[in-house]
Order: sequence, then C-alpha cells, then structure tokens
Amino acid sequence: MKKNKFVFLVALLLTSVTLFAQHNASLSADEALKKLMEGNNRFVEFKQNHPHQNKARLEEVASTQKPFAIIVGCSDSRVPPEIIFDQGMGDLFIIRNAGNVIDDFAMASIEYAVEHLGVRLIVVLGHERCGAVDATIKGGKLPGHLNRLTDEIKPAIQSAKRVTGDLLTNVIYSNTKRIALQINSSEELLKEFVEHKGLKVIPAYYDLDTGKAEVFE
Ligand SMILES: [Zn+2]
Repeated sequence: MKKNKFVFLVALLLTSVTLFAQHNASLSADEALKKLMEGNNRFVEFKQNHPHQNKARLEEVASTQKPFAIIVGCSDSRVPPEIIFDQGMGDLFIIRNAGNVIDDFAMASIEYAVEHLGVRLIVVLGHERCGAVDATIKGGKLPGHLNRLTDEIKPAIQSAKRVTGDLLTNVIYSNTKRIALQINSSEELLKEFVEHKGLKVIPAYYDLDTGKAEVFE
C-alpha cells in the first residue's frame, strides 16, 4: 500500500513537472495562431477572459517574458492587439506603425523576438479603412515624414489594381500580404527559422465593423 502511494506521488509529480514545462515552452506557430483566433472569437462575442491582467501576472513577467506571438500591426487606435485578441501582459510582442510596414528597426525587433524569445508566429495585421493606405492611394505631396511612409505602401497599389472590387480594401490586402512576404523572405536571420525552425509569417485582415480578424492567403 505504501509502495502504491509512493508510485502515485511520483506519477503526480512527473505529471506536474510535464504540465509546468508545457506551460513555459514556446508554442508552435499553429498553436499560437489557434490561441490568437480563440481570443479574437471571445472578443467578437464580447465574452472576453481578459487573461493575464492582474497582479500575479505582473509579478510573473516582471523578470522575464515569453510572448507566444508577434503582431505587426497598424498604429490605428481602433486596432489594439491585446484587446482584439483578448490577451494580456507578456503574451504579445507588438510592432506598430501607420500602415503596418517594416523598416530595419521593425525587422530587428522581430528578429529579437524570434531568436531571443523563441516566438514562432508572426501575424501581419492589416485592417479595414486604413488611413495610411488611403492617403497612399490619394497620393500628392504630404508634410513631414509622411511621404516616407506612403512610399513604402505604394508598391501594393500596382498589384491591387489588377483585382476587381474596392481599391482601398484591395490595397490593404496586398500591402499586408506584401509585408508578410517581405518578412518571410528576409535573408539575414529569419530565413533559417522559416526553413528549419517552424517560424510562420501569416497575413491577416481586421474588420473594424465586426471586430473579426481573419487570416488570408
Ligand atoms: Zn491603419
């Protein structure tokens, strides 16, 4: 009987260790995407869990972080990743600028999260009625640094013109796809992770009216 108890306790301990290890292990790209989409479904239905937004989590992530996804999104105030994916502190590593484009600093931030923090999913998140894309389509000379930004988005217009339908929507899709391809084909560091270490770069589109985020090809 005593022996049985001992075996039971060892089994329980091993199970706990395994569960603990799984909790802390990096999620695969597919697992991370599933987790994101489940969060977005909760948001759309206004059944949020608001995870990881308490004192315990604050203390847990104070000394280290283990985010499970990288989001490259637009600065637009209506598209805040933690809210629309129903996540909390330490969950998402986020790069945001108007038009969700990539420069060297954004790429370096992504590389850090992939190489150093072990993240295996990058979602490039374009969104409905994006002002940066709209300004690019309208063209003309813009003040300050704005032309630098629209120049970065411009190449997406050509491919979108070949598609029927609303031009703004089409350019948002093609810009998002283009940025995802740009990250996916980055030679310097990410290539190895894409080819051999399970890194996935996925374009997605966020609907401002419904709150729904959907991946697309
Ligand atoms: Zn935008």
